[in-house]
Amino acid sequence: MRRVLVTGGGGFLGSYLCEKLLERGDEVICVDNFYTGSKRNIMHLLSDPAFELVRHDVTFPLYVEVDEIYNLACPASPVHYQRDPVQTVKTCVHGAINMLGLAKRIRAKILQASTSEVYGDPAIHPQEESYWGNVNPIGIRSCYDEGKRCAETLFNCYSMQCGLRTKIVRIFNTYGPRMHPNDGRVVSNFILQALQNNDITIYGDGSQTRSFCYRDDLIDAMMRMMDTPDEEHGPVNIGNPGEFTILQLAEEIIRLTDSKSRIVRQPLPADDPKQRRPDITKAQKILGWQPVTPLRDGLVKTIAYFDELLKTDPDFCRS
Ligand code: NAD
Ligand code: UDP
Repeated sequence: MRRVLVTGGGGFLGSYLCEKLLERGDEVICVDNFYTGSKRNIMHLLSDPAFELVRHDVTFPLYVEVDEIYNLACPASPVHYQRDPVQTVKTCVHGAINMLGLAKRIRAKILQASTSEVYGDPAIHPQEESYWGNVNPIGIRSCYDEGKRCAETLFNCYSMQCGLRTKIVRIFNTYGPRMHPNDGRVVSNFILQALQNNDITIYGDGSQTRSFCYRDDLIDAMMRMMDTPDEEHGPVNIGNPGEFTILQLAEEIIRLTDSKSRIVRQPLPADDPKQRRPDITKAQKILGWQPVTPLRDGLVKTIAYFDELLKTDPDFCRS
């Protein structure tokens, strides 16, 4: 039996990862300070003796004994990570240092949840891992982008200097049930707006593109990455290469919800990447993986989740 630490385990992706690890028979320690996560995401796991919840901020040292560490702690949506940029940098950088220090002491394998944001507003399309990126170091997204880039640097340094078994995955936009209703991300925003027949807010002209990966596919890839041979450190892109404009996404969500919502335009936030699509050749080769959930199927499941949430907990949807 493996003992696994998941930081950020109370969040959208972390909670589903905890669930999948428990299903596989692992013991799981979930660490979260609930900055953006919620106990509701892991409530159903609390009665499992193989699951342990620790309220802790990863910017402070942590002492536990585990075999593997998945480092997911970090606010992920632009609205959340821009709320307290200093704390975002600390979580990315001090959090990485603390978790790498822990991994070094206990000789654990450690995986970093990095992001497509390390490519910034990419000048290369689609993005492959060898691309160094185009990031504004002092823009509104930089606390996250540069924080995550520094975390990658730290992972690489610990692996080169200390022989640590590190892994980096670069996650592209991921969606699914348990996304926070108010994190301002495009999929949750549009679905909630459509279900309530409110205006759908497109920032800019809607021609910017994103590639949307369903949660289950993403977590499958992340767990495969942890199981790669020790000499495989990444980074590896994980995401769905299907690319859509934001306008296409809005139209699809209106269709699937049979909504009466109108599309309205709002100003495009600064440094908003114009295009994003992962080249997943490396993931296909190293992980024997590719996403299997088409956007429409994933959206149907996510719409059902938010529909239920609006009925059972409308206050949470407004919070
Ligand atoms: P999320 O906000 O739902 O989850 C992040 C979790 O980390 C939350 O539970 C939050 O409370 C916790 N957290 C934040 N700061 C912390 C701290 N200092 N100490 C302890 N816990 C802390 O976001 P998510 O979408 O589940 O993202 C998980 C990880 O995946 C993040 O590292 C994010 O950068 C990365 N990622 C996600 C996406 C995506 O599309 N969802 C894309 C790229 C990268
Ligand atoms: N977006 C939008 N309307 C919204 C929320 C987001 O048009 O209500 C746009 C946003 O400007 C960006 C894209 O959708 O171009 C994806 O935004 P999100 O915040 O989900 O993720 P990220 O920008 O980090 O990829």
